Amino acid sequence: MIEHNNNGLRYYTFESFPAHYVEHGLYTRLGGQSQGPYQALNLGGTVGDRPEDVLANHQRLFESFGRPFESRFDVWQVHGKTMLTADQPRPQNQKHQPADGIFTDNPEVTLLMRFADCVPLVYYDPIKRVVGLVHAGWQGTLQQVAAEGVRLLQEKYNSNPKDVIVGIGPSICGECYQVREDVYQQFLSAFGQDAEEFFTRRESGLYLDLWAANIYTLKQAGVRQIENADLCTAEHVDEWYSYRKEKGVTGRFGVVIALKA
Ligand SMILES: [Zn+2]
Repeated sequence: MIEHNNNGLRYYTFESFPAHYVEHGLYTRLGGQSQGPYQALNLGGTVGDRPEDVLANHQRLFESFGRPFESRFDVWQVHGKTMLTADQPRPQNQKHQPADGIFTDNPEVTLLMRFADCVPLVYYDPIKRVVGLVHAGWQGTLQQVAAEGVRLLQEKYNSNPKDVIVGIGPSICGECYQVREDVYQQFLSAFGQDAEEFFTRRESGLYLDLWAANIYTLKQAGVRQIENADLCTAEHVDEWYSYRKEKGVTGRFGVVIALKA
């Protein structure tokens, strides 16, 4: 990933996304006004942080990103596999709809999602000119939400999976993500024996590699161009929020993407 700094904010971009055609940013927690465990650029409105700080952080992010705050389309992320298309920005008075994937071909829309260990999947189809974001925690990964994103691109925008570029953003790695035995059983039911490759057993317990599972799912769906940031949130809480490492009391960092007009 490429590092960018402006207005006291730091964000990263994937190298495989052409900056002439698409703008995106994986915003670190640096440069916001939230305090305590939410320090500093927390975008999560339901994590116990002060609402006025969260709103100010959203505005700061959009200022840094160089797009109007009113262009925002975000959703209530619920660990499911519902995909939405955002043909217009979300009206300010409209409630968040529950979904874990959002896509648009309208350059006036800026897609935004929030993360703290769950896997950010960032989609771009340079041929059909569509962008998207998908949220994949262990439950979404189990439900192969990454492939739902590809399916939506095919059905709604006529995309060819071979053209689609997917970036895997900062999230908890397979060395850090300890899970219960029943999670393993559920993955075996969903993926068959191939699920073995996503898990490691150590003396301290069982660990799940969410990146491997999502890459497997994307490849099965026909995606060939995948860039993994290879960056673990739990090991870098100086820059990212980690729900697991920070024991549930923490903020959410933002990932944004938009087409250039
Ligand atoms: Zn890690």
